[in-house]
Amino acid sequence: EERMISGELQEEDSSIEYSLRPETLSQYIGQEKIKENLSIFIEAAKLRDEALDHVLLYGPPGLGKTTLATIIANEMGVQFRTTSGPAIEKAGDLAAILTSLEPGDVLFIDEIHRLPRSVEEVLYPAMEDFCLDIVLGQGSSARSVRLDLPPFTLVGATTRAGLLTAPLRDRFGVLSRLDFYETKDLRNIVERTADIFHIGIEYDAATEVARRSRGTPRIANRLLKRVRDIAQVSGESTISMETTKKALKMLQVDEQGLDHIDHKLLLGIIDHFQGGPVGLDTISATIGEESQTIEDVYEPFLLQIGFIQRTPRGRVVTPNAYHHFNREVPGVE
Ligand code: ADP
Repeated sequence: EERMISGELQEEDSSIEYSLRPETLSQYIGQEKIKENLSIFIEAAKLRDEALDHVLLYGPPGLGKTTLATIIANEMGVQFRTTSGPAIEKAGDLAAILTSLEPGDVLFIDEIHRLPRSVEEVLYPAMEDFCLDIVLGQGSSARSVRLDLPPFTLVGATTRAGLLTAPLRDRFGVLSRLDFYETKDLRNIVERTADIFHIGIEYDAATEVARRSRGTPRIANRLLKRVRDIAQVSGESTISMETTKKALKMLQVDEQGLDHIDHKLLLGIIDHFQGGPVGLDTISATIGEESQTIEDVYEPFLLQIGFIQRTPRGRVVTPNAYHHFNREVPGVE
């Protein structure tokens, strides 16, 4: 089942995302600290005429990791090559990609934590010394040869840095964590996207879409696309607040940007476990969603807005969440 408010890439996003992707650091909205750092590193690498240091980008889906990787290549004036952890099955697959790079190229590996171990080991000398160790022959006649690679920049993306093995993580010179976006940044993204769609949007309406997007640009763009459809059907050339509210209600996205799955998760803990603490696996079994998905996709935003807390004994629903559902907080008179 596809959720309107999941940060993960969905089929309907693919067709539009390409046209919405900012191409330069200055077009990339928000994440000021990361942009500032990257622009210094990029400037310095260009001055020295070297490849940029390897960059690890981590954070929940839809926050702009892939976009940032393409921008790094643009700003460096080099080619962008893209692949993903699960797509590289054998060491030879990675070797083929690495030997085809031009000096300075950006190689983007999405979901880098899912690289098979044997492939990861090929990456260590490639990242560190720009070389490949290849074993020729078999048995007693086997010998190892070193192959030089062009200097390149690996940009890795993952939902959590902690999912990487230490030796891989240590080989990145730049580690950047993307945070959920503030409402004002998301409003700018919504306004920019509306511009690209050639439709106007009232300031309040753009703010409303931004507020309900779980701090995530991909969700903001997806919601805007649906709101636009409804505005156009009702003959609006500028999307109004009224239409926006109506559309978001139809999409069953509440004032906080939560949907029925969040409701199921939170109310599940409230009704069946007196608000917790309850273990992740128990929650997973109760609501029928995978633990990993809950932890990487649903939970980060609920933690961010302070609706749940992690404790050593499990997850706890906070008074904020009780208030959101107009429930009485247990133990409070
Ligand atoms: P991730 O790789 O983290 O899952 P993406 O880079 O694919 O996320 O971003 C999803 C979409 O959100 C992109 O197509 C882009 O249009 C939009 N987006 C992400 N970050 C920004 C940003 N900082 N400014 C403007 N648009 C953004």
